[in-house]
Amino acid sequence: MASSDIRSEWGLRPVINASGTMTSLGASIVVPEAVEAMRAILTEFVEMGDLQRRASRTIAKACGAEAGFVTASCSAGITLAVAGAMTGADLAAIERLPDTSRLPRDEVVVQAGHLVNYGAPVEQAVRISGAKVVSVGQATSAEAYHLAGAITERTAAALYVVSHHVVEYGQIPLEEFAEVAHAKGVPVIVDGASEYDLTGFLARGADVALYSSHKFLGGPTGGIVAGAKDLVKAAYLQNLGIGRGMKVGKESIAGAIAALEAWGKRDHAAVRAREKRALDLWLSTLEGRAGVDPRIVPDPTNNPLDRLKVTVDPEAAHITAWDLADAMARGEPPVIVRDHEVEHHYFYLDPCNLHEGEETIVARRLDEELTRAARSNTVIATPLLARRKAKMAAMSRWPD
Ligand SMILES: *Cc1c(COP(=O)(O)O)cnc(C)c1O
Repeated sequence: MASSDIRSEWGLRPVINASGTMTSLGASIVVPEAVEAMRAILTEFVEMGDLQRRASRTIAKACGAEAGFVTASCSAGITLAVAGAMTGADLAAIERLPDTSRLPRDEVVVQAGHLVNYGAPVEQAVRISGAKVVSVGQATSAEAYHLAGAITERTAAALYVVSHHVVEYGQIPLEEFAEVAHAKGVPVIVDGASEYDLTGFLARGADVALYSSHKFLGGPTGGIVAGAKDLVKAAYLQNLGIGRGMKVGKESIAGAIAALEAWGKRDHAAVRAREKRALDLWLSTLEGRAGVDPRIVPDPTNNPLDRLKVTVDPEAAHITAWDLADAMARGEPPVIVRDHEVEHHYFYLDPCNLHEGEETIVARRLDEELTRAARSNTVIATPLLARRKAKMAAMSRWPD
């Protein structure tokens, strides 16, 4: 890390991100093209409507959509797309939100298995608009008849979430979901925040597709709304109402445009080859160690990205998977691994947000902590419950 690193100047820990695209760590490495576009526009004035028109053209081309715009986040995109589906272009109705009492339609159907939390509840992003969530089926079982039965004359939209967060079986496929919704005249909104596929959801029946600008695209914090012109326009017009608090500045719009255009030109094969080198290094570092089972696994939602799944047998390795993850995070430099399922005795190492050379530091830190554990006379095993409570307590202590 260079001494000019703003993090050391501000007393912040220089973390290495081996966990993927995490909002809590600053999302992703913003690509140079986006940094340059933001730098270039920050000191200039621009007509924002025109800048969003320019964004619309780029989004339309990248996503195979009729139109698009940039908002504060994908989460904001959910709220605005739902709001637009309720109000259309009626400015008076837009100003009345979240009061929906005079609107003919204010319900949004969502499969129960899609009502997840991406840092905040999906359900709340819908409710902020004033809409009511109608849950479809059960968490692990949804069928076309559940969806058809949930849709009424009050249904404004059907929301579909594509993510590793959702229940991974028993859900209605998007094509069938869209078929049932469309047969009843209901538009389909897809939350594909973290999904690399910019064209597939619209091609498979979605009317609106939502993405984060700051995740795989490597843009600044923002959300991309893409889809049918009337729905995109109705969502955009919410900027005169509830969208004001989700306002995005010229720099984020410019950055999203540049990131999307750079994505189209990126050498994706070279990126994958670099990620593969990191995975192979970690695999060779861990293979043959007592109690450690490393395996390269594909992304659960088929993004073109592999991770290293590291399963730890605490008795043989003398440390639990979560204590290893925590030791890595406490270390020098801190390495944050992907540990959201760590109670099952594994975590993942994700190479997609590493700077050149950081994979070597990750390998060294794994070696140091596992060697230390192997020499320990006792198994390093913090009770999971204590770990949960400590995490929650640390969050509640902020700003102290
Ligand atoms: C990250 C994520 C979001 C939130 O995206 P932001 O742009 O950070 O608001 C929404 N849905 C899913 C499935 C996500 O993974």
